[in-house]
Amino acid sequence: MELLDGRKLSQKIESELKAEIETLKSKHDVVPGLAVILVGDDPASRAYVKMKESACERVGLYSIVHKMPVTISQDEILNTITMMNENPYLDGILVQLPLPPQIDKDSLLEAIKKEKDVDGFHPYNMGRLVMGMDSFVPCTPLGVMELLAEYKIDVKGLNAVVVGASNIVGKPMASLLLNAGATVDICHIYTKDLKAHTLNADLVIVGVGRPDLITADMIKEGAIVIDIGINKVGDRLVGDVSFDTVAPKTSYITPVPGGVGPMTIAMLLKNTVTAAKARRC
Ligand code: NAD
Repeated sequence: MELLDGRKLSQKIESELKAEIETLKSKHDVVPGLAVILVGDDPASRAYVKMKESACERVGLYSIVHKMPVTISQDEILNTITMMNENPYLDGILVQLPLPPQIDKDSLLEAIKKEKDVDGFHPYNMGRLVMGMDSFVPCTPLGVMELLAEYKIDVKGLNAVVVGASNIVGKPMASLLLNAGATVDICHIYTKDLKAHTLNADLVIVGVGRPDLITADMIKEGAIVIDIGINKVGDRLVGDVSFDTVAPKTSYITPVPGGVGPMTIAMLLKNTVTAAKARRC
């Protein structure tokens, strides 16, 4: 069993991006800029935004966090997005999810200029992704693909199972795998016999948000297991996979923390640099 070390790869990507940003600055006078809209006081969202802000600082990206109260109206957020769309120094805009119940998330995501959609959640970019066309790709599944590539794992022809079918994780993950030639099952809360799917899989990718959802009896010998889940159990962060018992059966597995999480942030930085180059160089 080998650990897929997302922390190490993300550090390598960050140092490459840092050098690229220095060149953009010196040759083109461009400092890529990222804007984050944070609504309310959800502690997990605040922590994620803080991590994104620190990562921007580390690589030399310009970033702003626009904080809004939980009672904010749809129109006020839309106005902010419009201003950010027009701001020439902002290359990427993201709205931190989840949002309070009075807000229609989909129309906000659709209001972000597609050229600044560094989270890849705009239907335009999602559609292009499904069609296998060049697009901004959601950071978490993109990070998983980078991690697999780093360890020279070719998914072509593999039986893959994606557990979790959200718009931000499972669906784009399945599209990327399909585009890369894997045979893909997508499982979700209504899947009748999850184990029947996972047990047949060469590659199991889980993004649900339920600790110990995937146990050793559900994994075939030698499978590759990617754990996207992040759950707080007491004061520990764990994934969706029972790591200690599953890991010995696998050929490769991601740890939590230190697997997919750092890759997600690295891909956000990368998408922002890509957006800046496309718009301004
Ligand atoms: P979500 O709640 O939007 O979607 C969860 C999905 O899991 C749904 O498709 C649902 O049908 C499915 N599901 C729920 N219970 C299930 C069950 N018992 N069996 C099979 N499928 C089941 O969540 P999300 O936003 O996609 O996030 C999923 C997990 O990934 C969370 O733990 C989240 O914290 C984590 N996450 C991690 C990163 C990262 O960078 N590592 C990024 C985004 C999300």
